[in-house]
Amino acid sequence: MTSERTRERLIQRLHDEGLSNVQVLDVIRSTPRHLFVDEAFGHRAYEDTSLPIGHNQTISQPYMVARMSELLLEAGPLDKVLEIGTGSGYQTAVLTQLVERVFSVERIQALQERAKERLLELNIRNVVFRWGDGWEGWAALAPYNGIIVTAAAAEVPQALLDQLAPGGRLVIPVGTDDAQQLLLIVREERGFSRRVLDAVRFVPLLNGPLA
Ligand code: SAH
Repeated sequence: MTSERTRERLIQRLHDEGLSNVQVLDVIRSTPRHLFVDEAFGHRAYEDTSLPIGHNQTISQPYMVARMSELLLEAGPLDKVLEIGTGSGYQTAVLTQLVERVFSVERIQALQERAKERLLELNIRNVVFRWGDGWEGWAALAPYNGIIVTAAAAEVPQALLDQLAPGGRLVIPVGTDDAQQLLLIVREERGFSRRVLDAVRFVPLLNGPLA
C-alpha cells in the first residue's frame, strides 16, 4: 500500500493533471504521506484525496500541495516561507525540502504537537512551529518571501499582506464553504498584484488558538 508503484502512480497522475515542476514532484514522491494520516487510512495515503486527521480537519490533497508549492516557487527559489495551518505537517514536510526555512502556525495545539513529532522523526530541522492564530501571521519573524495558507479565509488577512517581503508571494484559498478560489498575491514595488486561479475546497480558516 505504500509501495513504490503506488507512489509512482500518484506522481504520474499529478503530472497528467498538468503539474510540471520536477523538483516538487520528486519531493512528493519521496515524502512518506502514510506517516501523516491515521493508521486506519494508511492504505489510502497515496490516493489523490484529502483524508481526515481528527479535530474535524483534513490532510490536504496531494494535487493541492503540489499546485500550491509550484505557485510559490514559480518565480524562483525562496528562503523564508510562512505556512498557516500546519495540520498533519504533510505540506510542511514537503515545503521544508523545497525552501530554506519554514515557519508554520497552527491553531489546534494537539495537531501541532503531533506534526512536530512527525517532522522530528523524519529528521527535518529547518522548520519552527507556533501555536497561534494564523489570521495574525507571525509578525516577530516577518517579512517572508512566501506565505501559504492551507485553510480558506473569508477574506485575505491584512496581517499576511503586511508580512510579505518585496516580491513576496502569498498563495491562499479565499471564500466561503461552497465558493472558494485559490489566489496568488504578489507584493510589487507599489501595492499588490492578484491572480485568481482554481476553484478549490478547503476547511475554513477559523479564529483564535484552541487548546
Ligand atoms: N496542510 C495541512 C492541512 C490541514 S487542514 C496538511 O496537509 O495536513 C487546515 C489546517 O488549518 C487545520 O489544521 C486547521 O486547524 C488549521 N487552521 C484553521 N484556522 C486556523 C488559524 N486561524 N490559524 C492557524 N491554523 C488554522
